[in-house]
Amino acid sequence: MNKRERAAVMVERMKEQYGTEKTVYLHHDNAWQLLIAVIMSAQCTDARVNIVTKDLFKKYKSLQDFANADISELENDIKSIGFYKAKAKNIIGTAKRLVSVYDGQVPSDLESLLTLPGVGRKTANVIRGNIYDEPSVVVDTHVKRISQKMGLTANEDPEKIEYDLMKVLPKEAWILYNIHVIALGRSICIARSPKCEECFLKDICPSYKK
Ligand code: SF4
Repeated sequence: MNKRERAAVMVERMKEQYGTEKTVYLHHDNAWQLLIAVIMSAQCTDARVNIVTKDLFKKYKSLQDFANADISELENDIKSIGFYKAKAKNIIGTAKRLVSVYDGQVPSDLESLLTLPGVGRKTANVIRGNIYDEPSVVVDTHVKRISQKMGLTANEDPEKIEYDLMKVLPKEAWILYNIHVIALGRSICIARSPKCEECFLKDICPSYKK
């Protein structure tokens, strides 16, 4: 079985297991809230970000509110998440740029998204896939680890992994791949102790019980 065939079987089985709904684990009501939540989620769990954004989005009700925020106050509001100082600075910078350059809208193209402070390819692809339905592969920690285990990439660099996955995954599966792999990584292919015996991919996984 070559990489493309393995990827196709993996995609089909994950679809059977986890369905076809686009589940976004970070709570949000609109594009800019998701963007801010994703900026905050670097090196932090989605659960922690959701706790913080619950109050944060009640206090800052618009992008303009974030653009006008006092940095020390915002740092204090998000201080329970890692790297809160850099994240507060990026949130304000992103909100200012969205208001001044993009008329308060979150752009859908990668090039524009990447000009926003604190927005890298992962964040940009979350927005493109989940908000705009643009085929895009999000490479997070689960996708990196499990794609390596499944032999779909041998790279370490997220951007190279993204390109490797775009070559082997069917395009219509790009958006759901990240969502499904997160579900797999949280329940079965757990980083410290993968439950290989229970895994629905064990017969095609090159890392089974390794
Ligand atoms: S067989 Fe084991 S290593 Fe392979 S995907 Fe399943 S849990 Fe992960």
